[in-house]
Amino acid sequence: MKMQDYINEAEEALLHTYNRYQVVFDKGEGVYLYDIEGKKYLDFVSGIAVFALGYQNKEYNYALKAQIDKLIHTSNYYYNVPAIEAAKKLKQISGMDRVFFTNSGAEAVEGAIKTARKYAYLKDGTTDHEIIAMNISFHGRTMGALSVTGNPHYREAFEPMIGNIRFADFNDFDSVLSNVNKKTCAILLETVQGEGGIHPVEEEFLKKVKALCEERDILLILDEIQCGMGRSGYMYAWQKFGIKPDIMTTAKALGCGVPVGAFMMTERIGQNSLKAGDHGTTYGGNPLACAAICKVIDLFEKEKVLDNVKEISVYLEKRLNELAGKYAALIETRRGMGLMQGLVFNEPVADIINMAMEKGLILINAGSNIIRFLPPLIIRKQHVDEMIGILEECLSARLEK
Ligand SMILES: *Cc1c(COP(=O)(O)O)cnc(C)c1O
Repeated sequence: MKMQDYINEAEEALLHTYNRYQVVFDKGEGVYLYDIEGKKYLDFVSGIAVFALGYQNKEYNYALKAQIDKLIHTSNYYYNVPAIEAAKKLKQISGMDRVFFTNSGAEAVEGAIKTARKYAYLKDGTTDHEIIAMNISFHGRTMGALSVTGNPHYREAFEPMIGNIRFADFNDFDSVLSNVNKKTCAILLETVQGEGGIHPVEEEFLKKVKALCEERDILLILDEIQCGMGRSGYMYAWQKFGIKPDIMTTAKALGCGVPVGAFMMTERIGQNSLKAGDHGTTYGGNPLACAAICKVIDLFEKEKVLDNVKEISVYLEKRLNELAGKYAALIETRRGMGLMQGLVFNEPVADIINMAMEKGLILINAGSNIIRFLPPLIIRKQHVDEMIGILEECLSARLEK
């Protein structure tokens, strides 16, 4: 069957919740994807910050195959070795103390919210606590995660949300402070806002929020689902700032393609929140998913992924800055952290992204005017050059129109 035939069939069977790009992918290799007609694409999206190690990593694939032949699933009512190993490794890379595995990012956010509410409930016996989340944030599509997502357009049709959520402006401490009251149990933010347009947290803001949380016994929840797992140049982006959250979420690149996430907390929160019977999941942290986590974390160390991100992101920033300078008629600014970058345009970017796709480069937007760059964390300078070359062709064609 031809690509168009598959696309037609897809539109007859799948619920149309995405306006999909007109491509059917078949396989991946390294930092490249191939569609079913054999066309090759340089991938600067990685399945939205998922495939950090690139496609077809032999060791990763082998570890998964070996686990499939051993044990894919048991219930969380029993222990399993991959989950124990994965939790130990996650503690090491994050510096957190207690881990709960989920199947997705949104579920990790749900767990973080429940943890904060339970903590506050145990503290004062009341149930009317509030959470402060940020405007233009994104935390997922389930009802709880949606309730803390600062984009009214995503929430509107699904009201009522869970109650007692207030929204403050990201990187605006006074805005946060003005929303704090006796009922506040948690402040939730992405260390680098992703879907909202690649906004890194400002150090001063984060430190002030952290101090406020300590002073008032409010829990700081950092959502690292997109910016975590090395993308920022740190295993978790908050590690750059010398502060530590009480609760954090991780997912996306955690399993590098196997659906898995986690929420984690300090020992103090672990001892004073969710207890046996308070939370659960059938699949969360099953042996297959946890075998993936173990191998991913091992490979991050073995392949020195953080060093590569630190090195290549400097180069990517430089090349993007040059592009922004050269095409100032289209591009307002670049911003980002590590290999999570955005170019802010003064017009919608859909046409440019489609043109890049035709030329064999996969990019994605964040909002209508921002192109997001989320390449696999193993990219080399030559891939940055290849990407810039194609993008530049698109931009000059755009200007000639
Ligand atoms: C993607 C994302 C989520 C939701 O994760 P899912 O796995 O899609 O449920 C939550 N928070 C952030 C910051 C994300 O980027």
